[in-house]
Amino acid sequence: MHINVRDILVESVGYSSTYKITGERPDLEAVILTRDIEGEISISRLDNSLLVRGHLATEVELECHRCLSTFSRPAEFSLKQEYAEEPVDEQMPFEGDVIDIAPLVEQEIILGLPIKILCRLDCPGIKEAQGRYTKEDNIGVRLADKAHITKGTHRGRT
Ligand SMILES: [Zn+2]
Repeated sequence: MHINVRDILVESVGYSSTYKITGERPDLEAVILTRDIEGEISISRLDNSLLVRGHLATEVELECHRCLSTFSRPAEFSLKQEYAEEPVDEQMPFEGDVIDIAPLVEQEIILGLPIKILCRLDCPGIKEAQGRYTKEDNIGVRLADKAHITKGTHRGRT
């Protein structure tokens, strides 16, 4: 999500420009988006930095902590971040004429996630998904057996 800020950098302090965000679906490191990002951001010229503010909405793929099924959930978040070529404190860096807001977007999405992610409040847990996860369960059992054997061998040697 690269935004060209050349036009803003040549303006005087206090200048602000608004951008409509539509059809953006960046590849984020820790989050999978299942819908394009939509919304609006504004970029204001400050003394030694640029202030990015905005409100965006999208949809993210999550994995239920209880039954491990994946599902999509709307994610709506606000942005407020300063960018500087020589960042201090909480400022984020940018180079040349371009600000990449994807890392900021990812950070805000993650901050907005609940600590306990559930596909639905009354999710019954892993049993409901057993049919779909039989393969993983078998692997789990095999690993457990192996661990037991290793442990036994070790005990015998000492
Ligand atoms: Zn669930």
